[in-house]
Amino acid sequence: MTYNFKEVNESYTLPEAIREAQRCLHCKVPACKKGCPISNDIPEWIAELAKGNFGNAMGIINSRSNLPSVCGRVCGHELQCEGNCVLGKKGQHINIGKLERFVADFDSDAGLTHEAIPEKNRGKIAVIGSGPSGLTIAGDLSRQGFAVEIFEMESEPGGVLMYGIPEYRLPKEVVRREIKKIENLGVIFHLNTTIGESCTIDSLFDKGFDAIFIGTGTGVPNRLDIPGLSHPAVRQAIRFLRRVSLYESGFMSRDEVIVGNGDRVYVVGCGNTGIDAARTALRMGSKEVTVIYHKDIDQMSALRAEYEDAVKEGVKFLWNTSITSIEALDDERLKELTLNIDGVEKTVPVDHVVMAIGSAPASRIVSSTDGIEVDDRGYVLTRENPYGMSSRKGVFAGGDVTNRPATVVHAMRDAKLVAEGIARYVDAIKLMESINCM
Ligand code: SF4
Repeated sequence: MTYNFKEVNESYTLPEAIREAQRCLHCKVPACKKGCPISNDIPEWIAELAKGNFGNAMGIINSRSNLPSVCGRVCGHELQCEGNCVLGKKGQHINIGKLERFVADFDSDAGLTHEAIPEKNRGKIAVIGSGPSGLTIAGDLSRQGFAVEIFEMESEPGGVLMYGIPEYRLPKEVVRREIKKIENLGVIFHLNTTIGESCTIDSLFDKGFDAIFIGTGTGVPNRLDIPGLSHPAVRQAIRFLRRVSLYESGFMSRDEVIVGNGDRVYVVGCGNTGIDAARTALRMGSKEVTVIYHKDIDQMSALRAEYEDAVKEGVKFLWNTSITSIEALDDERLKELTLNIDGVEKTVPVDHVVMAIGSAPASRIVSSTDGIEVDDRGYVLTRENPYGMSSRKGVFAGGDVTNRPATVVHAMRDAKLVAEGIARYVDAIKLMESINCM
């Protein structure tokens, strides 16, 4: 099998998309919509697509989602819209994700939709981080008449979409195209800007922002207490994926990726990040890649479709297996891993270990700002009213940094609620200011 980073899932052709859309029953009580975390009006846009009204279909999708090309590719459709589609009972659910991707790609390629830029007269919002949460907040608030500026520490926006999800699942050009649409709404991006260093939450308020949203995700990998884990040949999955992404974009040399040709790689953890790391290790030339997981297959958090694709590509899986120790050959190379498989110890040769057991928020922003309360694991605590506001007035948080959402689309759903909370808060303070000025 040859491995490359070309997108693995193919798009529909135009006749295929229309034929698929025409299978939809347009259910009066659409179970697909109920299954969608952002309540996308699925039957409505599928009906427009079935008639060939692509612009109308796109307009309906845009009213709920800022990132349709992304969602069409990486959402957990099997558990959400498609998993609820009534035709699924006969094993023939509508391929909603693939249709959404078709509509969004077709619209971008043909340049059909041009949204008017609304007047920005309701207030000024700073968004820290440009992952799915930050982009959703920026898109929603910008459409509602707020002036939004995004502050991103990396040289390109997109967060996990750009640096965490591999090219073969989500091409960078797709992410760049979605971000361009948000920029076209009048959102300003400040790149290579780390809040919590030269610029802080307080200095953003001093610059006149009415509210600030923290959507910085989780950048600090969780750690196990196992001998040998600090060896340089043990990589953290989120950092490994980031390096590969930078290498793919030409910002890093092949040597700096480290995992590579002919290696035997063990990935610890079986969420989507673990599977992404395993399939990426194969694409970087690894000879043998094995995912180990301490529970059973039914308890993995990875999507079944991702797991099945990984198996097809040759990734091996060891269930009910934990890692006991890692032995080094020298300062640069590993020698072997000791595993506990169903209670039996076994030693296996290894070149690299990739840890994918989750991550927690960095403390940079919270530690440089007074009044933002976090829980004992560093997640920002927020309230219900206005939704998403932290213990510091005017500072909101959402996405992984609050430990609420689990996937891209759940982060988007949460961010949409936070956007409503921010809008209500800023409208209220503006009203109070105008009353006080009378
Ligand atoms: Fe169409 Fe399936 Fe949704 Fe019914 S549940 S409206 S058939 S996509």
